[in-house]
Amino acid sequence: MAGVDIKGAVKRYGNVQVLHGIDLEIRDGEFVVFVGPSGCGKSTLLRMIAGLESISGGTIEIGGRVMNDVPPRGRDIAMVFQDYALYPHLSVFENMAFGLRLRKAPKAEVETAVKRAAGILKIDHLLDRKPRALSGGQRQRVAMGRAIVRDPQVFLFDEPLSNLDALLRSEMRVEIKRLHQQLKTTTIYVTHDQVEAMTLADKIVVLKGGDIQQVGSPDDIYNRP
Ligand code: ADP
Ligand code: ADP
Repeated sequence: MAGVDIKGAVKRYGNVQVLHGIDLEIRDGEFVVFVGPSGCGKSTLLRMIAGLESISGGTIEIGGRVMNDVPPRGRDIAMVFQDYALYPHLSVFENMAFGLRLRKAPKAEVETAVKRAAGILKIDHLLDRKPRALSGGQRQRVAMGRAIVRDPQVFLFDEPLSNLDALLRSEMRVEIKRLHQQLKTTTIYVTHDQVEAMTLADKIVVLKGGDIQQVGSPDDIYNRP
């Protein structure tokens, strides 16, 4: 587990500045949700924390280490996307094992980690299947399993439930909440769904036009006049 410290983070695409100097401290174990209108910069900020976008100014620290020049693979993070990003030709087991194999983890360790994650997400019985033989909810569980397999310091979620129907969305919301209560991993979660933000967040960050407009508890943000 580690905190994330964002200081004066700026993002420019050419001469267009889309983040204007974001200051935000995320504590160890905290569940932080980014909300705000489409185009306000939520996803860009998340991808900068992941190392998938470069930082044009300021710094991003994870666990007290400046990450600006550290590639995604050097950051102790795992990201879950809405399109799952599963490898279609690999089994569920191999999809979950992929990141550990890349890091040349010993076989026994890979097996233990994958089985532990599969147990937590209740997908033990799906390990031999290919992604195409899974339902949407099962694929989402595999994507989350792939993230927790490495036991990262930080989870990053980019609208992970947007492609699911309402019923599955509420089921997975509960699942994500349970995961966080169990693992207590620092989590940063992007969504435009107010129910997700209210149920999941310790802290909500409202972005608008590349700035932070408001930071507070779900109550502060949604229930105070
Ligand atoms: P959100 O996730 O809040 O919908 P984004 O972070 O995706 O917003 O986008 C923030 C702003 O950055 C938008 O105005 C978007 O058009 C712009 N943007 C995102 N990616 C690129 C890119 N690769 N090149 C140029 N502009 C981009
Ligand atoms: P790992 O499981 O170790 O993250 P991957 O090969 O799945 O290994 O991913 C390598 C890097 O690429 C990771 O940092 C991950 O966040 C990023 N990545 C994986 N899938 C996508 C995607 N669909 N879009 C953008 N980045 C991705």
